[in-house]
Amino acid sequence: AGDRPYATIDPATGRTEQEFPFLDTAEVDGVVERAHAAFAEWRRRPVAERAAVVGRIGELMRERRDDLGALITKEMGKRIQEATGEAMLVSMIFDWYAQKGPGFLEPKPIDVMEGEAVVVNEPVGVLLAIEPWNFPLYQVARVVAPNLVLGNVVLLKHAENNPLTALAIEQLFRDAGVPEGVYTNLFLRISDVEQVIAHPHVQGVTLTGSARAGSSVASLAGKHLKKSVLELGGSDPFIVLDAPDVSKTVQAATMSRTLNTGQACIAAKRFIVMDDVYDEFVSGLTEAFRGLQPGDPADPATTLGPLSSERAAQDYTAQVQDAIDKGATVLVGGGRPDREGAYVNATLLADVTPEMRAYREELFGPAAVVYRVSSEDEAVELANDTEFGLSASVFSADVERARAVADRVESGMVWINSPSGTSPELPFGGVKRSGYGRELSELGMFEFANQRLVRTV
Ligand code: NAP
Repeated sequence: AGDRPYATIDPATGRTEQEFPFLDTAEVDGVVERAHAAFAEWRRRPVAERAAVVGRIGELMRERRDDLGALITKEMGKRIQEATGEAMLVSMIFDWYAQKGPGFLEPKPIDVMEGEAVVVNEPVGVLLAIEPWNFPLYQVARVVAPNLVLGNVVLLKHAENNPLTALAIEQLFRDAGVPEGVYTNLFLRISDVEQVIAHPHVQGVTLTGSARAGSSVASLAGKHLKKSVLELGGSDPFIVLDAPDVSKTVQAATMSRTLNTGQACIAAKRFIVMDDVYDEFVSGLTEAFRGLQPGDPADPATTLGPLSSERAAQDYTAQVQDAIDKGATVLVGGGRPDREGAYVNATLLADVTPEMRAYREELFGPAAVVYRVSSEDEAVELANDTEFGLSASVFSADVERARAVADRVESGMVWINSPSGTSPELPFGGVKRSGYGRELSELGMFEFANQRLVRTV
């Protein structure tokens, strides 16, 4: 990623609708200082007041879901029902932290021989959050909801392709009563990210995005000794040990792989299927993928939207084509449909081998790879033969068998008999090159907390 301007380009048409200027480099320090000044006041407010503001954000997300959904559809091509659904999920995240957050922050006494010892939870200050376009509301909520209850303040650099959504989020927070400086949207140049991280008032940085961007931000955080949290890519395995009801398993697989037109970090991307169910499972999946037809994401009848940008469509097509050129079997799809916009075909690949990009890389689009295995050992070995370790799913009518296999898969999350999902109370995060740290749940409350010992003797 370079310094491309922030712009709204409708991926369904390729038309540039609006462009936005970068924040001037000379203004960066002033913005950080205003956030720091806001922190001094925000942290002193009673936690119940901060939680009430966060609760009001949840209400406004619900009220504005249709407008927010339409913006998301316009800027990154998410199908309209999924886009309004994202606003609803996000309202639940704000509601949940508004209700539970203050309880998580209660001081925790420790048994000691004499006197008292207690751990109190204090905010650390100004955070920089760098977020992607794929779930433009949800990614912001995961950082903002817990941190505002805790008392931190947030500078947010959103993706270059969803500036209108970024501005609508900032406006919504303002309308909910978030004071000036407690949340600030920045149209920041990538080349100015270091200046923010380096600023003495900035205490931490979190990024959701690619491993490449994560590595760059983590090295800057290391250089300037700032705490970092990274939520990076995934190539999640979906292991089918047995499937008494194949159509149900196929439905789960299709949903997981094609949600958000395949642009989800926790989408199942590699389908690892035991020999005796393989044929039936793959023919079901082929059928389901054949039914996905590219169309206008604003039309509720559409089954497959465009990718987020022409560049994303070209990258995806090159990954798929590389596999085809090296001998993979195309069960359905491949290539792009004959229409304008960032559309690609839903694609199912078999006979994918380690020298193909589709074996090792994250496929950020509606392409599934199916692998036939003949033992649990083989399934586990293949599942773990990846740099990523975000989530995984294991399916079997025998729950104990599924759990035993799940235990051996390297990931930050694992789901038994369900595609991976997300909910406010469930921790979210990965291992290996999928990143470190956790968002959501009680754990997400403490990544940027000063868990401070107070010892009285
Ligand atoms: P990306 O290029 O890494 O962009 C993500 C964000 O990072 C954007 O705001 C981008 O800004 C910024 N960025 C890019 N390069 C940077 C750098 N060198 N320094 C600082 N910031 C930088 O990611 P993407 O490919 O658009 O997003 C999809 C990726 O996110 C996938 O790999 C997906 O799996 C991952 N993801 C992970 C999670 C999770 O929770 N683990 C959730 C969702 C998505 P610009 O837009 O201005 O370039």
